Amino acid sequence: MAEYLRENQTEHHINAWLRIGDLQTAGEAAWLNDIDITRYDFPYIEGLLQRAYSHWTEEALPVFGLEDASWYLIDHTGKMVAAAADRPQAERVAATAAAEQMLTLGEPGTIAADGYHLAAAPVKTRQLREVFAVLVSLTDSESASAHLALTVQAAKHFGTCFYHQLNHVFLSDLYNLRTQNEQESARWTALLQIVKRIHDKIDVGGVLNEVFESMSDIYPGAHLELLMTQDYQSSNLRVKPLHMQASEGEDKLCIRAYTENMMLSREKVSETGARTLEIAVPLSGKQGVYGVFHFLIPGELGKDMDLQLVGMLADTAGNAFENAKLYEQSNLLIHELRLINELSRELSQSLQPAEVFEFATKELLEIFKADYCCITELTPGEDQFRIMSTNIESIDKDPFPAHYGICGLVYSTREPLILSDYQTFKGVRSKIMETTSSRSLIAAPVKLRGEVNGTILLTHRAPHYFSYENYKLLQVLATHIGLAIANASLYEAVQHMANRDMLTGLYARHYLNSCVQKRLSTDPVGSLLVVDIDKFKQINDSYGHQVGDRILKQVCDIIKSSIRSDDIAARWGGEELAIYFPYMTAEDCLKVAERIRERVKAETDPKVTVSCGVGGWRQDQDRISVESLFFTADMALYRAKNGGRNRTEIGGFDGTSERITP
Ligand code: GH3
Ligand code: MG
Ligand code: MG
Repeated sequence: MAEYLRENQTEHHINAWLRIGDLQTAGEAAWLNDIDITRYDFPYIEGLLQRAYSHWTEEALPVFGLEDASWYLIDHTGKMVAAAADRPQAERVAATAAAEQMLTLGEPGTIAADGYHLAAAPVKTRQLREVFAVLVSLTDSESASAHLALTVQAAKHFGTCFYHQLNHVFLSDLYNLRTQNEQESARWTALLQIVKRIHDKIDVGGVLNEVFESMSDIYPGAHLELLMTQDYQSSNLRVKPLHMQASEGEDKLCIRAYTENMMLSREKVSETGARTLEIAVPLSGKQGVYGVFHFLIPGELGKDMDLQLVGMLADTAGNAFENAKLYEQSNLLIHELRLINELSRELSQSLQPAEVFEFATKELLEIFKADYCCITELTPGEDQFRIMSTNIESIDKDPFPAHYGICGLVYSTREPLILSDYQTFKGVRSKIMETTSSRSLIAAPVKLRGEVNGTILLTHRAPHYFSYENYKLLQVLATHIGLAIANASLYEAVQHMANRDMLTGLYARHYLNSCVQKRLSTDPVGSLLVVDIDKFKQINDSYGHQVGDRILKQVCDIIKSSIRSDDIAARWGGEELAIYFPYMTAEDCLKVAERIRERVKAETDPKVTVSCGVGGWRQDQDRISVESLFFTADMALYRAKNGGRNRTEIGGFDGTSERITP
């Protein structure tokens, strides 16, 4: 390698090396080319000359024949770099002058001045034989020529010592280079293994643990923690939150590393003089910065800290963390989608609003593992909330003003809400939170056609219980629950309409039929009344159909106000009406019929009368059916009509026995 470099190094490259000012690298350069040291401005040459001088003094002094001499070393610029100890200033001046003279003349020589006898000999480079230093000796010796010869010999010896130093420097340089290479290769192998191990982990916690372990393997004495932004919680004790407001000390470096997304380091010296290297490296991926690794490396260990390696590890960790996070997020999303899908499928199966409310409460408690759930609905036109379903048994179920409490807050902001601790919450007071001693809450509005129609509240007694994901999920689920409620309400309304007669507001015939059918199988007794307006055709003919309709409604209203809520009044067809009285005997039914008949006669305008037929049944009768019951009542009505109208007739218990043929 040395040969290769010798042949291929240009002067430019050597210059670049030398500018580094690194003793070892420059030593290598000088040795390789034996360049003319004097032509370059070597920042290290003085040190090298001094080291060579002290080496030489140990080896060569005293010089035989010049035992009393004091020795001075001056570099090629005339600067004194080494001198005999404890000598008067005048000697130094004389020695420098002698060296200057030698450098000017280019030849070794002796000088006698002020009683001093000096000899100055050059030290030359190996190849180009250029002077790079002058060795000056000063003695009391009278023999100038012997003095000069010994000094020239000593200068040669010094030159050898100098090159010996240079070789030593180069060899140690080579050795260091080799050690460095070995360390480097070990470092890359370690890095490769760590990267592989980190990328093998698919969960966020696993990635972080691997990073901590790897870092402790490489730097056993280092203290490492990871400061994360608020939205990540870990069971690992070395993972802590990053407080963005911190103004002093360690956190400040971390905040800067986080906001600028770059590695920062600094050395701290304690009052006792102990040194600590502090490093802050961001944990970041392609989508953002998640936190900051914070290293504290005590004392000497800091010198070995390889910042490039730390940076690469942090980069790897950031990418792996991001991948794991994305993987977790997509899993969570799949789970949530499944949940939403299942919930809305099950919700859509309940067609009664009450059932939907109850089912939603049960499911929400299960999904969020919440302590309490409360679903409210806005009472139309009344500006009040009613609790539709809850598992809070002690809560007062009375309607409350729409602007009260948490519901009021959700109602007025139309936005979902998350409370991590009700105890420190400065906003509204809430009965729900207080009666249940809850501290955490998530709430969402239930909207109907874009307007808030209700609220869903989920609470837990522990503070900081619900996550941001919970809050977002509730918002989505609230939409689905809202749809299911709207759906069930609509179904209920349609059902109501289908079972009612529009003109009279009474039930439709099919509804009465099915109710009677059920009653016959469950009840012990019951009766049916059939009411028919007398000569209604004539009324229509005389007053017109509109008046006829009005009278029909009047009659129906009289019927409605004459019966109990359990009795079922229906429009049987045309101007014929039928009322079923559960648990009522035919005799009692007759009384109600008479009352209705009297009232119709008295209260209608224009005045009409009605004829009534009553049919009753008992469980002990055989073969009772809807048809036979109607037949009995109809037959009775027929008799009433035949008997002159405006009267009530009662049919027998057995519909067949009382059959009357006109
Ligand atoms: P009666 O029952 O006393 O034997 O005589 P009626 O004239 O009431 O008997 P009929 O069954 O012959 O006529 C029933 C009439 O009721 C025929 C129809 O014009 C009238 N009617 C039926 N439904 C309605 C209705 O919804 N509105 C009006 N205005 N009239 C109706
Ligand atoms: Mg009639
Ligand atoms: Mg009729």
